[in-house]
Amino acid sequence: MLYQKPKGTRDTFGKELKRIEAVCRTARSFFEKNGYQEIQTPTFEYADLFIRSIGEHTDIVEKENYTFKIGKRVYMLRPEGTAPVLRAIIENKIPLPCRLLYIEPMYRKERPQKGRYREFLQIGIELIGEGEPMYDAEIIEQGKRFLESIGADGFTIEVNSIGCPNCRSLYKETLKDFLKPRTNKLCPNCIVRVDKNFLRIFDCKEEKCQKIYDAAPKITENLCDNCAQHYATVKGFLGKFGIKYTENKKLVRGLDYYTRTVFEFKHHLLGAQNTILAGGRYDLLMKELGDEDTPALGWAMGVDRMLITLPAEHPRVTERKKFFVATIGEGLITETTKLRNILQENNYVCIMGNPKDSIKRQLKKANRLHVDHTIIYGEDEARLKMCSIKNMESGKQEQIALIDFSDFLKKL
Ligand code: ATP
Ligand code: MG
Repeated sequence: MLYQKPKGTRDTFGKELKRIEAVCRTARSFFEKNGYQEIQTPTFEYADLFIRSIGEHTDIVEKENYTFKIGKRVYMLRPEGTAPVLRAIIENKIPLPCRLLYIEPMYRKERPQKGRYREFLQIGIELIGEGEPMYDAEIIEQGKRFLESIGADGFTIEVNSIGCPNCRSLYKETLKDFLKPRTNKLCPNCIVRVDKNFLRIFDCKEEKCQKIYDAAPKITENLCDNCAQHYATVKGFLGKFGIKYTENKKLVRGLDYYTRTVFEFKHHLLGAQNTILAGGRYDLLMKELGDEDTPALGWAMGVDRMLITLPAEHPRVTERKKFFVATIGEGLITETTKLRNILQENNYVCIMGNPKDSIKRQLKKANRLHVDHTIIYGEDEARLKMCSIKNMESGKQEQIALIDFSDFLKKL
């Protein structure tokens, strides 16, 4: 093989692509009904946008991004959807509050494994300009209902609150006091994180670190009054929406911009890569990107990862019946084209045979193409104003008057 696709990327076609398209179609219609409008942003942005919003000391910015330089400008392939959407809201002066949906591929230079790719599709929603806790619960509920609408089940929902800069600066000292005598037991990554991005230590994949963090004081228990009140109200609304969830005090999320509510939907079938949908509130990000103080929240779902958890029959994909039209001689092409058009008007797939080939050869080709029916329209049929229809599975062949062709198709 002379060429192979780059590591961590995939070619998608056939049934798999149909499943992805069905998920996207459902997302568009589901979120439209919830007031969301779709937005598409560029595949790459100026790198500063992501560095500023995601944070310098995050996996994405430290090691996972695809960055390239042209002239003096540095660009980054889009690793996540929130920062570009907010940039677009500010730049296009989209009136607030607004609800936006994106369905776009993301790029992260990670170690490829099951459910983890370097190019992957995300469906995400952003609700900008709403600060009330009811909306934190509502976007969680919308994630759940959307997943259910495509046939997903068996996922669990975890929530937490990571407070605001006020509670965090006080809590940081409490956590540091706890960790000081234990520093030599932490992995090198966590030692760096304690200084640069301390909440992220809870995201560490090392078991020995996690054991220590089990006993550590948690941000959730150290929220300021406002954040504690907000979190309590969110949980109250989750109850009203009938959402089952667990509180995970170690849930912190990988990106810097989150405040207060964070949540993840996890699936037991996925092993290490078990998060299918994740998000939260990010009340500081609009200001960070140069706009006014604006509350905001959202989530993103990994479509490829989510599909691994879905039974093969979900989401339902409709396979159109396939026809092949075989004819002998170019003289009958005008008539066979009419048959093709009628088939397609009835929403069937129709592939034309090569009239220079023998009927035998055309039937062979029809078999290879796995069509359901082959229409044979030769000179005999033309004379009788009929066509023969062969059911490729049973081998049964019948003749239909051309005048009845449309009605016959409707009854198939
Ligand atoms: P993880 O801890 O798995 O790396 P993350 O915190 O980096 O996840 P987010 O940035 O929150 O993930 O992205 C939201 C969702 O996008 C994830 O929950 C997951 O379903 C999906 N996702 C993230 N990275 C990848 C990837 N490399 N390949 C496939 N899906 C991904
Ligand atoms: Mg990641």
